[in-house]
Amino acid sequence: MEDKKSPTFTRTGENRTNFVLKIIIMSFTEFPSRLLENAVNEFASLPGVGRKTAFRLVMNLLKRDSMEVKKFGESIIRLHEEIHYCKICNNISDTEICSICNDEKRERALICVVENIQDVMAIENTRQFNGLYHVLGGIISPIDGIGPSDLKIDSLEEKVKTGGVKEIILALSTTMEGDTTNFYIFKRLNKYNISVTTLARGVAIGDELEYTDEITLGRAINNRNPYQQ
Ligand SMILES: [Zn+2]
Repeated sequence: MEDKKSPTFTRTGENRTNFVLKIIIMSFTEFPSRLLENAVNEFASLPGVGRKTAFRLVMNLLKRDSMEVKKFGESIIRLHEEIHYCKICNNISDTEICSICNDEKRERALICVVENIQDVMAIENTRQFNGLYHVLGGIISPIDGIGPSDLKIDSLEEKVKTGGVKEIILALSTTMEGDTTNFYIFKRLNKYNISVTTLARGVAIGDELEYTDEITLGRAINNRNPYQQ
């Protein structure tokens, strides 16, 4: 029987995808499907993902078999529902206390203060640090409306006050916001009998810690200096 559909729809699956891709890249305001549009909008809401990239990611998922996509979706849902933030250091964890805080071989008197979880990962990758961490959850940034009370600074002071801490290493980004946060924390902790140190200047001014290479970061931890106002 003769195919009465328009020639466009006789294309193979691959061609059809490319055809749709071209049309949609030309005009992102018109989607052939509300479901597709919703999925693209969700992906495009992620940082660093533009609408074109979002569309490609969604189309890639569409091509995969349904079990694979289900696994993908479930991992995101489970991530949000089941992930824990360590009760001691605020690091991300599968359990209430993270594997670093649970590790008895780690030096508990040494606490490295970092901005975020990516920084914990960056320092761990250097394999040069054997203490514990304290994740602030950001840095003081008046422009972004982030003040000291938005960060885990009270709990850091509480740890120091409770005793057992000998050294606090301020391992924050060498940006103006990082310096402000260092200064604020130093002022809060200065009254306790502990040493407060900062990373050695192998980390260039303006660098974000998570993008510093492992060797530089490892060296900066080992050659840390007393904090100077
Ligand atoms: Zn922890």
